[in-house]
Amino acid sequence: MLDLAIVGGGPAGLTAGLYATRGGLENVVMYEKGMPGGAITQSSEVENYPGITEVVTGMELMQDWPKQCMRFGLKHEMAEVSRVSRPQGRCFTIELSDGTSVSAKSVIVCTGSTPRRAGFKGENEFFGRGVSTCATCDGFFYREKEVAVIGGGDTALEEALYLANICSKVYLVHRRDEFRAAPSTVRRVLENEKIVPILKAVPEEVYGDAMGVQGLRVKKKESGEIVDIPVPGVFVFVGNDVNNQVLKQADGSFLCDVNEWGEVVVDLAMRTSEEGLFAAGDVRMMAPKQVVCAAGDGANAAIGAIAYVEYLHRENLC
Ligand code: FAD
Ligand code: NAP
Repeated sequence: MLDLAIVGGGPAGLTAGLYATRGGLENVVMYEKGMPGGAITQSSEVENYPGITEVVTGMELMQDWPKQCMRFGLKHEMAEVSRVSRPQGRCFTIELSDGTSVSAKSVIVCTGSTPRRAGFKGENEFFGRGVSTCATCDGFFYREKEVAVIGGGDTALEEALYLANICSKVYLVHRRDEFRAAPSTVRRVLENEKIVPILKAVPEEVYGDAMGVQGLRVKKKESGEIVDIPVPGVFVFVGNDVNNQVLKQADGSFLCDVNEWGEVVVDLAMRTSEEGLFAAGDVRMMAPKQVVCAAGDGANAAIGAIAYVEYLHRENLC
């Protein structure tokens, strides 16, 4: 029986492992289906992690994190978790995709989230070299430059406003002439002189060279006209998939509360609605989707898990 199972080995999972083992939990396993490090390892430039004064790649940022955690006894299993359940009593069951399962007294889910791609030509090729899904991460690289934002939901419009504080102009490309975003956000966008809406237009192609993106071509839906937007940065906000599948039960319900967007509902201690189950990082509600925040969540959740396991032992509940 594990004291704690951690699902996911990105910044949240690794930090949870560090704090849990260093804080005295002895039998802690972090299940990570790939190499530990998480989504940030896809990034070629990170310059907003506190204390790291140079621009580093995500790989460089993360390379020593597993070593630090393992020093205190964290075990890593390269395995995919298919489901976390609580069939009866207080124990959780961690089902792995190879058909095996293990029991745990507490669980921290740190499986992250995945921004959707819009599917235009060059989007994947230039991802990380001018195409981005994170304004907080990459907006500063385009300070005083022009950028394009794709999408018409709350995320696209809020991020367009964020970018308008940094960039000289923001072209907002949306496939309809009505936005999904909240009316107050739409109003702020339309009143912002730096944001230029390009409506009823779909992205056709992002183009560039070995140095990165040079522009975006969009097609006007009604006329078929191709409009060239010569920008070095293209931000895609066309939806986000929360990686909450491990919490889905056989009957289709979730093990704990999730909100209407599938994000795990937590309190300020990263506790979910299910006692002993915590969520940390990009999988939780209102996540700022930053490494430093995910790491903070992981530490916070681990401190809660230690207290919860102590309580079980004290009360002879397992
Ligand atoms: P993730 O890092 O997504 O880690 C989740 C982990 O869980 C993954 O490793 C995944 O393999 C694993 N997993 C998922 N499901 C399962 C399962 N069923 N079983 C086992 N393992 C599973 N943030 C910044 O602060 N600064 C930046 O400059 C920055 N740039 C970015 C650039 C890019 C290209 C990207 C993609 C993100 C960037 N971010 C940046 C955001 C940052 O990467 C995330 O906010 C952070 O990684 C979230 O950490 P996490 O641990 O919550 O989730
Ligand atoms: P979203 O609401 O699903 O919006 C996605 C946008 O991208 C839509 O405008 C959609 O166009 C467009 N789109 C989708 N696929 C596309 C493609 N292939 N090419 C071009 N455009 C495409 O996603 P989101 O903005 O990430 O928001 C997700 C949820 O979180 C929403 O419910 C949102 O309200 C919520 N959220 C809330 C807040 C807040 O309350 N402050 C902040 C952020 C997000 P169409 O409109 O034509 O479908």
